[in-house]
Amino acid sequence: MDITLSKSRIEEAAREAYSNAASLTGGANADYIPFLANIDPKLFGLSVMLPDGTAFNFGDTGYKFGIESISKVPTAILAMRQHSPAGVLQKIGADATGLPFNSIFAILLENDHPSTPLVNAGAISACSMIDPKGDSDAKWKAITDNITDLCGSAPELIDELYKSESATNFNNRAITWLLKNYDRIYDDPDMSLDLYTRQCSLGVTSAQLAAMAATIAAGGVNPLTGRQVFSREIAPKITTLIATVGFYQHTGDWLYTSGIPAKSGVGGGVLGVLPGVLGIAAFAPPLDSAGNSVKAQAAVKYFMQSLGLGVMNGDRVSITG
Ligand code: GLN
Repeated sequence: MDITLSKSRIEEAAREAYSNAASLTGGANADYIPFLANIDPKLFGLSVMLPDGTAFNFGDTGYKFGIESISKVPTAILAMRQHSPAGVLQKIGADATGLPFNSIFAILLENDHPSTPLVNAGAISACSMIDPKGDSDAKWKAITDNITDLCGSAPELIDELYKSESATNFNNRAITWLLKNYDRIYDDPDMSLDLYTRQCSLGVTSAQLAAMAATIAAGGVNPLTGRQVFSREIAPKITTLIATVGFYQHTGDWLYTSGIPAKSGVGGGVLGVLPGVLGIAAFAPPLDSAGNSVKAQAAVKYFMQSLGLGVMNGDRVSITG
């Protein structure tokens, strides 16, 4: 079927999605990272960006929150840019774990495969893959430059979050050394873990994440800068990873009910990609039991349902002025 949507209809759906989800009260801030426990739980923002750069922003869309696991998306893209999608498949894999993001059990079950760059294990592996090897500063620059290119503006390290996370990341230290044991760390293990922890501590706004999502939706062309950030073949690969594991053990339920591949972070962010159509991002700190933002999920779902959109629908969607 052909679906034609006007920009004003999309804006209206986003506004309604925002006001509808704003009254929800469930969930709780992540508290295993002490800094996150103290973020104002009432913050809430929703941002949509179209491939032509048109943006719709509602609520706290200029607030810089911890990107957390959403950072796994840009770094997977960077690993694909540097080593090709086939290289990432071979060194990390592309399977859903069906288990929580920080699962050690998942590594033991597939000891030759961390299995996807979008869970902690595979993301630490991805950080180890980033070139130039052995040079922490240059790797960090490559990681943050890539995020800047995808967002069209720079992220900002939240120093307190980085310290808070570094002081408490014992589980991730265990993951890193277990991966090292299985030859799935491709650089210095401590450096790889530190880069992962630091990238999770970057502050971004929902408006920036919507631009990143729109860049993926537009096949690698950033709508704000017009730059081809990554080659077109990477877009379906990263969207596949997002679709299969973006919400961890709840990914199937999420895709089934929302119709949009999306990635969450324990900072309260959600980034959704509707290929060829739009990027969406929402942020609200209180999380459900799997670590996914309650309000952000509700808002994105409402938006998709109200416009009758779904990545599996097989519809051709055009947007008019
Ligand atoms: N930095 C967090 C961690 O490693 C990210 C987890 C997440 O956002 N799901 O535990």
